[in-house]
Amino acid sequence: MRKKVTVVGAGNVGATTAHWLCSKELADVVLIDVIEGVPQGKGLDLLEAMPIEKRDSHVLGTNDYADTANSDIVVITAGVARKPGMSRDDLLNTNFKIMQDVVGKVIANSPNCILIVVSNPLDAMAQAAFKLSKFSRNRVIGMAGVLDSARFRTFIAEELNVSVENVTAFVLGGHGDTMVPLARYSTVAGIPITELMPKDRLDAIVQRTRDGGAEIVKYLKTGSAYYAPSAAATEMVEAILKDKKKILPCAVHLEGEYGIHGLFVGVPCKLGTNGLEKIIEIKLTAEENAALRKSADSVAELIKVIGV
Ligand code: NAD
Repeated sequence: MRKKVTVVGAGNVGATTAHWLCSKELADVVLIDVIEGVPQGKGLDLLEAMPIEKRDSHVLGTNDYADTANSDIVVITAGVARKPGMSRDDLLNTNFKIMQDVVGKVIANSPNCILIVVSNPLDAMAQAAFKLSKFSRNRVIGMAGVLDSARFRTFIAEELNVSVENVTAFVLGGHGDTMVPLARYSTVAGIPITELMPKDRLDAIVQRTRDGGAEIVKYLKTGSAYYAPSAAATEMVEAILKDKKKILPCAVHLEGEYGIHGLFVGVPCKLGTNGLEKIIEIKLTAEENAALRKSADSVAELIKVIGV
């Protein structure tokens, strides 16, 4: 039987996620939104692209959660996005209300699914979905690190004029200004980038990575990034559906790992059929540890506001 993936929110990130999913023929896709007509229109449009793409994924747009029943994975992108001058945290209360609406309906129809949360502020929304769903922690995973690392990799590849395929990079911590790009663990064909570029260039790239979301919001003016975010969510879906045991940076509920208890923070994770299969604990320097802690503290502040 084909796998089924529901994408909640048929806006920029949601519709583009649906696009990547069916163009890679990873699953049948259901796209659901509160706006009548939009998911139906985008879903049909995508379905009609499948003969050209030579893919047999079925795509359905709907406003009815019954159509999402028994999904293997549900990607939650519902919510408002940033406009220029807004931080991700400004979205907290609005998106928490949306999360309350969405999670209940999702789990009533797909009690065995794995949730991938994309809505911002990411770590707090993932924590909200975890608490609201009462799922075990392996089944609630937040997308941020794959995107932040992809931005870091892009800038490293451009700086050194090398293939993006040669670049691996790690960004830990919360999805926000306190994210922790780990230069020491970032390499080009196995060579640490700290040996390949001067410190001032590396610092500039780290800062551009931290500001990566804002850089795009500033250009777009009416919304935030969606091609790379949806590609990142799709990579996570693929790792789970294909049981790839892939190590990706994801926001997950830490229960003592890295000395952090009861908070969603971005760390290296192994993704496979069961969702989160292992948290990889790497040795951090005192400085990196302090940065991760600062990042966790800012997630804790948001959690306090919404009380989850
Ligand atoms: P968008 O405005 O284009 O789309 C959001 C969609 O959610 C809209 O179509 C809206 O109708 C829908 N929606 C609202 N309430 C809903 C509900 N109760 N049920 C179902 N659908 C509902 O925004 P976007 O650019 O697609 O961004 C979506 C979210 O993803 C935002 O919160 C954004 O900040 C976040 N985001 C996160 C990352 C990340 O790295 N984690 C990256 C990019 C965007």
